[in-house]
Amino acid sequence: MANDADVKRNPKAVKQESEEAEGDGESRSLKSRGNLFEIATSQFERALDAVGIDKEVRSILAQPKNELIINFPVRLDDGKYHMFKGYRVQHNNLLGPFKGGMRYHQEANLDEMKALAAWMTYKTALHDIPFGGAKGGVKADPHAYSRGELERITRRFTHALGNNIGPEWDIPAPDVGTNEQTMVWMMDTYMNIVGQSEKNSVRRIVTGKSVTSAGSYGRREATGMGLVHCISEWAHERNFPLDGVQFIVQGFGNVGSYAAKLLTKMGAVLVGTGDYRGYISNPEGINPHKLQEHVARSGSVADYRGAKAISREEFFSLEGDIFIPAALELEIGEPEAKALRCKVVAEGANGPTYPAAEKILLDRGIDVIPDVLANSGGVVVSYYEWLQNKRSERWDQSDVHQRLDRRMRRTFANVRQYAAARRLDWRTACYGLALERLEQSYMERGIFP
Ligand code: NAD
Repeated sequence: MANDADVKRNPKAVKQESEEAEGDGESRSLKSRGNLFEIATSQFERALDAVGIDKEVRSILAQPKNELIINFPVRLDDGKYHMFKGYRVQHNNLLGPFKGGMRYHQEANLDEMKALAAWMTYKTALHDIPFGGAKGGVKADPHAYSRGELERITRRFTHALGNNIGPEWDIPAPDVGTNEQTMVWMMDTYMNIVGQSEKNSVRRIVTGKSVTSAGSYGRREATGMGLVHCISEWAHERNFPLDGVQFIVQGFGNVGSYAAKLLTKMGAVLVGTGDYRGYISNPEGINPHKLQEHVARSGSVADYRGAKAISREEFFSLEGDIFIPAALELEIGEPEAKALRCKVVAEGANGPTYPAAEKILLDRGIDVIPDVLANSGGVVVSYYEWLQNKRSERWDQSDVHQRLDRRMRRTFANVRQYAAARRLDWRTACYGLALERLEQSYMERGIFP
């Protein structure tokens, strides 16, 4: 995970945060990439046009319901106070409580949160899970802070959020730069705010907790596992055996590392990967388990002995049938879409592909399994965790895995059918299915008062 608890304060990262990361050639700043909310809106509008959604429903979904920005002070290890900026954007709660991750990143911003929150609404509606969509986080580089500082940032942020989150209102989860430990700190802080008698009934305030602290078996690997279910369904449909296939993963955090381990177990070979510090490749194969041990020790895939360092440009030109973006958004632009030499892009990350780049990929005959479907395994198992907490139950890992498998394959089949019947690309089909569910509910319930 990005915020490895023992990572020491990194002066370079602190500098980057204060300068709002203008980009240094290899890792491009979000500012230089364009506005994520505008890109999400263009995808949404394309789907609205394709499936013909009611005008009023369109305008409700075009903007989030609530946008919260909180500036809060935290005492750092040097004794000085530092002001942090936190966000929580609640896009829609028509089908159930707001649900979505908390991201710690130096370039976190409101428009990014708005896009990510909207995608959560479509992801949960697509799966017919009784949740809405939200996203939030803190504008801070987690690599730049000690464990104690991260704990104080998390607890202070949770306290400042107060009743803006709640176990039946808005339920956070991990995302980039946060992990199980972050969720446990959030849960513990919230439990201690509500008072003794309520304490144990609010453990479902967050999902993605550790198993020892009321999390679910199977949540840690859920997003990577859901992604691999989608890839194996895609491969099955194409009559394309995964045994011996080469694959490439951008980002080796929670999603990327689990996807890599599971695909390797099926006989596929990891030939390239990379993270915020650099890219590596080995045509003979990289052992994802050993690589993960290296990342746990050093915080990055860079300098891994079992592969050679390559540039970002070389990374996107690597040969491999499956390409998995599992880092940040907007990493696949037009040059990358022209360079990729794969048969399928399976979007582990949220919003990794620009619309113009997606068109290039599709024109080149490269399939795209879109984020709202491909990375939805995490929210599916988050829902199972929330249910277990609510019922005071503990489900076996095999039970969680089976339920995830069934739901991913069912939703994949629904999307395939919907896309074929209407001759739509898969992203538009995912949105179409989700939007029709939302529209139907608005039509039945109307708008109060
Ligand atoms: P993580 O923090 O565990 O890992 C992120 C990885 O991306 C790290 O390896 C990091 O070094 C790398 N990275 C960061 N900046 C980069 C850059 N500029 N260039 C290349 N690599 C970079 O996060 P995660 O939970 O694995 O999330 C990854 C993506 O998956 C995000 O888009 C997130 O929104 C999405 N996602 C995560 C979950 C989940 O359950 N964790 C669920 C759905 C979607």
